[in-house]
Amino acid sequence: MQDHCIQPIGIVHSCFKEKFAIPRQPALAPAATGEIELFAPYNDPVALEGLEEVSHLWLSFIFHQTLASAHSSINSKPQLRVRPPRLGGNKKVGVFATRSTHRPNALGLSVVKLDGIRNNRLQISGIDLLNGTPLVDIKPYLPYADNVGTAFNYLADQAPELIEVEFTPAALQVVLLHQTRINKPIQALIEQMLAQDPKPAYQKLDLERVYGVKIWDLNVQWQYLSTGNIQVISVDLA
Ligand code: SAM
Repeated sequence: MQDHCIQPIGIVHSCFKEKFAIPRQPALAPAATGEIELFAPYNDPVALEGLEEVSHLWLSFIFHQTLASAHSSINSKPQLRVRPPRLGGNKKVGVFATRSTHRPNALGLSVVKLDGIRNNRLQISGIDLLNGTPLVDIKPYLPYADNVGTAFNYLADQAPELIEVEFTPAALQVVLLHQTRINKPIQALIEQMLAQDPKPAYQKLDLERVYGVKIWDLNVQWQYLSTGNIQVISVDLA
């Protein structure tokens, strides 16, 4: 076969500005939203005709940040086995049994909710995508074919266990202000994102350590409590 060059058809503008703390699969944080900006010639309403009949989309995309770090690393060779975070980060399995970002061609696949189309941009939610993710294709979710009732995956047979997320009163007050300012469900997004426990499984619980991440235009900081809960301690304009 001849070499075939894949060109992005668009880009995702996402609430997640850093890789850390992005849920590890779509649908885990319904309040995680973004929009798809299409590039010419696909930024034409003609290419979107019919999508008003569709609730969910398959997005085919490039793990561009993984590619960027692989290109800058001298020992980047194809990985046949990887350590998925779901298995505690210390057990290796074949790359094709995982959804790892370190994979052939750095291609990702996520099913997301299509909330609407505004100014030719697709409004999407339940995303697990970093801001700036290049899209290579969009397909409609087909319930009769894509929803496989008999499917199993014993490596990851259930959604991850959730942990409780609390806010200090001051942090909650700021969240509510910013929520009104940008008209996005920031409180729900922080709760759903942190309930997944972003801390790598191999990392020991350190009650002194302050973690932080950027969502929208905000820096969110949190700590782990001795109860095992997470407490959001500050939310500031980035
Ligand atoms: N649902 C997709 C799949 O199965 O191909 C992605 C699964 S992957 C395990 C999800 C993680 O990829 C996120 O938690 C985030 O850390 C990372 N990620 C998301 N967008 C990315 C991007 N553009 N470049 C590199 N990593 C990305």
